[in-house]
Amino acid sequence: MELNIYAYKCKRCGHIHYPYKTICKNCGENDHNEFDIVPLPKKGKLLTYTTLYNPPSDYEVPTLALGIVELEGGHRITGQLNIKNPKIGMNVEGKVEVVRKEAYNKHLGMVFYQA
Ligand SMILES: [Zn+2]
Repeated sequence: MELNIYAYKCKRCGHIHYPYKTICKNCGENDHNEFDIVPLPKKGKLLTYTTLYNPPSDYEVPTLALGIVELEGGHRITGQLNIKNPKIGMNVEGKVEVVRKEAYNKHLGMVFYQA
């Protein structure tokens, strides 16, 4: 099963929110039922990134690259990069994967690959 990250799309103006907001940032709609739950797009463009050379120990990677990606539709999210030589402006495609493990918890997040 393909995993998704779900976002909240304003029924009035179509603006996508992630994480959840009770008031649309674009048009001010504030009825809790006025949002459709939609999967975030997975394709986008890498806007910028950084590499952590000493990531927290529960990230089981030697170095951790984090990028800000503008997804199709214009929403921007932070995600982990699994790309050897990332370049600003490159096309990327995300997959929802386990990014961090604790003793009893697995944390899912978007991991981006070169598209
Ligand atoms: Zn709206």
